[in-house]
Amino acid sequence: MTVRNPKFIISAVRPEQYPETDMLEIAFAGRSNAGKSSLINALTGRKRLAYSGSTQGMTRQINFYDIDGEMTFVDLPGYGYAAVSKDQKELWGRVVENYLNVRPQLYMVILLLDVRRDPGSDDVMMYEWIRRSGLAHALVLTKCDKLSRMKVAERRAAIIRQLSPEAEPRIFPVSSAERTGIDELWAEIDRVFSDD
Ligand code: GDP
Repeated sequence: MTVRNPKFIISAVRPEQYPETDMLEIAFAGRSNAGKSSLINALTGRKRLAYSGSTQGMTRQINFYDIDGEMTFVDLPGYGYAAVSKDQKELWGRVVENYLNVRPQLYMVILLLDVRRDPGSDDVMMYEWIRRSGLAHALVLTKCDKLSRMKVAERRAAIIRQLSPEAEPRIFPVSSAERTGIDELWAEIDRVFSDD
């Protein structure tokens, strides 16, 4: 779809703070720095709807965005901060787990992976959870402008192998910086949402 009027709704930590809406939700998950904010901005055609490089406090919250009254984008806090303490990691886990486990509106999860990095144990765990959940999902390889097309194809195969050799995920190489792959990802979202 072409987004006309995306709006930030609220930042939440606890379920009682989540917005009351009956729109279906797409959650964006991935390591911090994987390119979540940039992808949400590219998908919505806005420069600063989602804050890039936000402070650690902000990144522990879940940010909800109204996409033209059609669906809600949910920006989950990124995992994998090397610097955070054990307490903060536990808090992150609770915030994300709470959302994933209790939110009836959740309809699709998009897992972002930096195309240049090997998936970490957090990525593998998240992907396993998504697969078992039975939710619609897609993998997005971010920052593809940083590699040649051939290298992207190589990395794509390696990432699938490392994440889960037996799975056949739908996988979308994108560059938010150059807006490549964004229309294809939207087509997939539209397809998934028109399936219900
Ligand atoms: P987040 O922490 O997952 O929200 O990641 P951000 O969207 O803030 O991106 C992290 C860093 O990667 C920032 O410096 C972005 O400018 C950069 N980045 C994100 N997407 C792209 C992309 O498609 N191409 C390039 N070259 N850099 C990107």
